[in-house]
Amino acid sequence: METSFHVNPVWIDLAYLLAACLFILGIMGLAHPRTAVRGNLLGALGMLIAAVVTLLARGLDFGVIVAGVLVGSLAGALLAYKIRMTAMPQMVALLNGFGGGASTLVAGAALAQTASPDLQSSVATAATGLVGAVTFWGSLVAFAKLQEFLVSGRQVLFGGQKALNALLGLASLLCCAWVVAEPTSAAAYCSLVAVASVLGVLLVIPIGGADMPVVISLLNSYSGIAGATSGFVLSNTVLIIAGALVGASGIILSRIMCKAMNRSLTNVLFGVLGPASGAASEDEVYAGKVKATSPEEVAMLLSGARRVVIVPGYGMAVAQAQHAVRSLANLIESKGAEVEFAIHPVAGRMPGHMNVLLAEADVPYDKLKEMDVINPSFPQTDVVLVIGANDVVNPLARTDPACPIAGMPILDVDKARTVVVIKRSLGPGFAGIPNPLFAADNALMLFQDGRKAIQDLIAAVKES
Ligand code: NDP
Repeated sequence: METSFHVNPVWIDLAYLLAACLFILGIMGLAHPRTAVRGNLLGALGMLIAAVVTLLARGLDFGVIVAGVLVGSLAGALLAYKIRMTAMPQMVALLNGFGGGASTLVAGAALAQTASPDLQSSVATAATGLVGAVTFWGSLVAFAKLQEFLVSGRQVLFGGQKALNALLGLASLLCCAWVVAEPTSAAAYCSLVAVASVLGVLLVIPIGGADMPVVISLLNSYSGIAGATSGFVLSNTVLIIAGALVGASGIILSRIMCKAMNRSLTNVLFGVLGPASGAASEDEVYAGKVKATSPEEVAMLLSGARRVVIVPGYGMAVAQAQHAVRSLANLIESKGAEVEFAIHPVAGRMPGHMNVLLAEADVPYDKLKEMDVINPSFPQTDVVLVIGANDVVNPLARTDPACPIAGMPILDVDKARTVVVIKRSLGPGFAGIPNPLFAADNALMLFQDGRKAIQDLIAAVKES
């Protein structure tokens, strides 16, 4: 069923241009929650136009394509349906990896079909093999780490790691040169992919803990770069544009996240922060200093409060407490207090995690305040309700230069008059360290599941 329509190439290019414009408008829309849904639709429309035009204009076997689309759609829909919101980073890691793997295969297949590739396509093939294989294997390791499947989520370190990585980097560049010199050699391309695959694994295993989000967005960028270079292999303009957009936005997001954690990208990738050796133990931090509270006591505090700030974290996502939190905020406001939400850029397990959850619960966007905006207001805040957040409110980031989150800007909730922390235990957060906030003089711990705690709090506020 091989079909090719004879479309004037000018119309194809115009359709690609339209698709590219829609991608750009889509990304612009995604920059704000209010326009994000429309942005998403515009991007999807652009992709639909690009895919339909490519399928119609090239002589393709539609039987195989339809079968591929069906199998891929079924697998994608099942995965998306079953995945928990809290496991999204793993899912994104897998999707990045598949993008890199697909580009590597496409470039290899194009190589096998071309009798004498020109310099542009042989350089592009080498670049795709290198970046695609690093992305595929790096993403699989990132998935395994986040899922704690076969590999520890922490850093995996061994002697001579940096030297070995440098050697592998050099070997992959030599293999790239081999591919460019002998573009039709399958041995050259396979060697390149093999070396780059080992490099991908070894580049990601020493990274762990709170640095994982940066790695995921960086791998996302790599998958875009691999897509763009495979566009050069296929001479497909829209693939080059879409890949470049993904590559650039991934790098920008990585930089924003590094800034949020006060780290440089080089430091995340090669700095290898170890667990704090002289760090205080949980016993030293908490023993005899933690004060537990009850929903009734918190309701009394809230009834006298003029300003309340809610700080959501990963635990709110686990407990699916966002709707209850919105109801509580409305209730406190109806009693005359001002309520705002403090959003840390890396709260939760993916960029924008808290914004997505609170938007789902119809919390107005203007109530969500970014860290830099809300931090100066904590000293004038009567009650802060921390719901399932831990690392993003840990003052050790300010005081212990050896801890894994050292230097990460945090929400200064400890400066408020009273801080109520809702979580199930004194268990640590993602970075695996104790939190002196829980033992602070102005802190009270409400040990409960996030949703149950908020529901009990709503009942107690109504009764008070
Ligand atoms: P943390 O991971 O620091 O802490 C979450 C807390 O939630 C835990 O201490 C846990 O305590 C509590 N919790 C878990 N389940 C529940 C529940 N059902 N009810 C109430 N509490 C619960 O979360 P933060 O949001 O403060 O920080 C995010 C961390 O994740 C940072 O270190 C960040 O770097 C990292 N990260 C961020 C990503 C991103 O893109 N945003 C991606 C990957 C990692 P307990 O068990 O006692 O209940």
